[in-house]
Amino acid sequence: MAEIAHKGYAPTIWESLAGAPHPSLSFQGSFWHSVAPAGPAQMRLEGEDRTEIAIVGGGFLGLSTALHLAEAGHKVTLLEADEAGFGASGRNTGFVVPNLLTGLDPRYAKAKFGDEKGDLLVRMLGEGGELVFDLIRRHGIDCWGKQTGWMQPIHAANKVEWLKDRVKQWQDLGRPVKLLSREEAIAETGSEAYHGAFLDPTGGHLNPLAFVRGLAGAAVKAGVTLYSDSRANGIERKGAEWHLSTDRGTLVADRVLLTTNSTGGGLAPKAEGTQFPITLFQVATQQLDPELRKSVLPNDRCSADTRKDLIAYRWTDDNRIVTGGLLANPLGSVERGRTHHLGRLQALLPQLPELHAEFAWQGRLAAARDYMPRLMRLGDGAFSAIACNGRGIAMTTALGRKLALWLDGGSNEELPLPVTDPDPVLLPKLAPLAFSVWLPFSRRQDAKDLRGSAN
Ligand SMILES: Cc1cc2nc3c(=O)[nH]c(=O)nc-3n(C[C@H](O)[C@H](O)[C@H](O)COP(=O)(O)OP(=O)(O)OC[C@H]3O[C@@H](n4cnc5c(N)ncnc54)[C@H](O)[C@@H]3O)c2cc1C
Repeated sequence: MAEIAHKGYAPTIWESLAGAPHPSLSFQGSFWHSVAPAGPAQMRLEGEDRTEIAIVGGGFLGLSTALHLAEAGHKVTLLEADEAGFGASGRNTGFVVPNLLTGLDPRYAKAKFGDEKGDLLVRMLGEGGELVFDLIRRHGIDCWGKQTGWMQPIHAANKVEWLKDRVKQWQDLGRPVKLLSREEAIAETGSEAYHGAFLDPTGGHLNPLAFVRGLAGAAVKAGVTLYSDSRANGIERKGAEWHLSTDRGTLVADRVLLTTNSTGGGLAPKAEGTQFPITLFQVATQQLDPELRKSVLPNDRCSADTRKDLIAYRWTDDNRIVTGGLLANPLGSVERGRTHHLGRLQALLPQLPELHAEFAWQGRLAAARDYMPRLMRLGDGAFSAIACNGRGIAMTTALGRKLALWLDGGSNEELPLPVTDPDPVLLPKLAPLAFSVWLPFSRRQDAKDLRGSAN
């Protein structure tokens, strides 16, 4: 099979209202797609195949689990509905963030999962950046990977004490993070608007599609059978085996792990219903004068600030800036997706010339109601894992390795999260609207923080 025809995935209610997924904001329209090296050769599941462990979903989580399981000697087969990286993994901003979302700190993880598991989880995540860049080196993945550090600048002065506490919590775990002063934050970001910053030097950035395709290549080399264009549309227990059916074939497996994030399409409705799908817009600007790199992110770090409706930006190797985020109003969002986030960036960095979106695309992530990862039991030997929650590259890659150790015979005690039953949200069909409805409140809170700082 030379190249697959991208079919896309079923739109959420939010995306349908916006007339999306819009062809002009497609996977193929992304900047990453225009520059990423090809992934491994593609083949489709046709007829029946048998395996020991079936993984469904070829994003960072599924591929990291598959790679580490194959390296431990297991027979692993991965079903991907489209091509590896077609989901959030191939469309994101490429920030490697060894941290949880704003407001969720090691203390929060321990409160959620208990001291032991919470500690395992944050230690795993803290080491996630090191794991990602180690995999890049070990497998020679060509993905513009730069371990130059991840920054979280403070948008409002009244957040400084909170950030100090955040830095201390990670330092207490032995992580090499630090607090930047206002002057340092301004010099590092290029924006006078910031009051300080959290810096984790083990984070960084990469071309996410190139990284996920590189992971797929490494997994195939390690012995994983990877089927593309093979959406699993049914899962059934027959005797001691699991049968996963696709349009053209059946995969029979001893054990199954679903890693379908926000696009499972009803394969495991209760597990999928535990999360809120969130559509995000991304843009890459025109190529800019390289001189600007001396004042904007001069150390080539990536930056995502403390706003609830955060402003995130980074350079690409060919001197573009990639930014993006949420939009509150789905109607008319196709055009606004191109302009809204550039306008915010321009206000933050007035030294930039007029920006336009040479590439624009959208992607969908998913978040659980507590923004924490899940490992859900679907039946005897079948599980569904979700690790996204917006901060995904480090988290999903690192959790994939832990899941592989567990499926290789590790004990439940070694897992950094509990194994639970699916616990769907109320009215899951309406869940995609939740973040857009919530966004105006988030923006009001951001504005209030700024006013509070000015007083
Ligand atoms: C626009 C955007 C920007 C982001 N920016 C960042 C960032 O800068 N840094 C960061 O750390 N995180 C970021 N994230 C989050 C990050 O991308 C995700 O956390 C991560 O990619 C999730 O990986 P995953 O493997 O769980 O899911 P996905 O990458 O979504 O993979 C799921 C895969 O399953 C496949 N699939 C679904 N259903 C089926 C089925 N029934 N049968 C077979 N295959 C199926 C899909 O096609 C898909 O390839 C961003 C997300 C988005 C959308």
